[in-house]
Amino acid sequence: MKVGIVGAGKVGATAAYAMVMKGVGREIVLVDLDKVRTEAEAMDIRHAIPFSARMLVRSGDYEDLKNSDLVVITAGVKQPPGSGITRLDLLEKNAAIFKQIIPNIIKYAPNAVLLIATNPVDIMTHIAAKIAREHGMPKGRVLGSGTTLDTARFRSLLSQKMNIDSHHIHGYVLGEHGDSEIFAWSSTYIGVIPIDDFCKQWGIKFDEDDKIFVEEQVREAGYKILDGKGATYYGIGAAISRIARAILRDERSLLTVCAPMDDLYGVKDVTVSMPNMVGGEGVLEYLELPLNMHEERSLIASATLISDLIKSIS
Ligand code: NAD
Repeated sequence: MKVGIVGAGKVGATAAYAMVMKGVGREIVLVDLDKVRTEAEAMDIRHAIPFSARMLVRSGDYEDLKNSDLVVITAGVKQPPGSGITRLDLLEKNAAIFKQIIPNIIKYAPNAVLLIATNPVDIMTHIAAKIAREHGMPKGRVLGSGTTLDTARFRSLLSQKMNIDSHHIHGYVLGEHGDSEIFAWSSTYIGVIPIDDFCKQWGIKFDEDDKIFVEEQVREAGYKILDGKGATYYGIGAAISRIARAILRDERSLLTVCAPMDDLYGVKDVTVSMPNMVGGEGVLEYLELPLNMHEERSLIASATLISDLIKSIS
């Protein structure tokens, strides 16, 4: 299986490394404006292959994406703190980049699934899907990393608090990948037991204040990492590798990726994250969670915020 990665900066290169270490795919092609740095990244990642599974990793151009099963897009400009670049400026710049790169990708890899990680990821996924549709790509084949990273941060914190393997924490972060995201506490389970019952059973103090604290920690994680080291890439790199595995192996996994939806609780034509079933054709179906009234209202507010931003640049 062949994977293209357009944008071989920190996130793109780390995603490639995570795929190599997990043996996801057989061939990876890195494409970026900066060809010298990209070949250096490819070379560096190739040197990890003898410690993992057999794989081909190289740098290339758009025509080298031919026959890709998946193309990951992490290309874009960033919003350095204090730069004065507004969210809307950033959006317009990245939208212009996507108008140029998406048709190029589809020209050489018309059958690939497109996975977007460029921020603001919900809106960039919406834009990419629109361009892809105009070029004849079927619905569902464009998705974004959405809140997979936020869900991982949520599960990691709960795993520490409950002192239990994070694989047994079944809980989702939904909506925007950003400040308005929502935490679906009412359907968060440890094993097969609702989280509140689990905490009672095991004598763990975990009340409403603890839940608010977890939410704050998840929302602030990205900002804290940016403050400390200027970029975030390990968590998202691993998330991209996990989504890639679901696509390349047609796993039908439930992941909180974002994909365009005609209607979400009355909000029309919007792209935010829900637990989506992901397989070889991209997003196949989404899971409607039994949300409580507060969660449902918050999800509608988050989707409305994204929908307004989509309208502002359309
Ligand atoms: P980076 O600056 O290290 O990499 C971006 C790369 O895009 C650069 O190598 C640049 O040369 C390339 N690029 C720019 N325009 C291009 C074009 N037209 N064609 C090909 N390549 C082009 O940035 P990064 O830290 O890797 O972040 C990349 C993106 O991922 C950003 O938008 C960032 O906000 C986002 N991100 C998303 C998540 C998430 O959860 N979705 C998490 C972290 C970062």
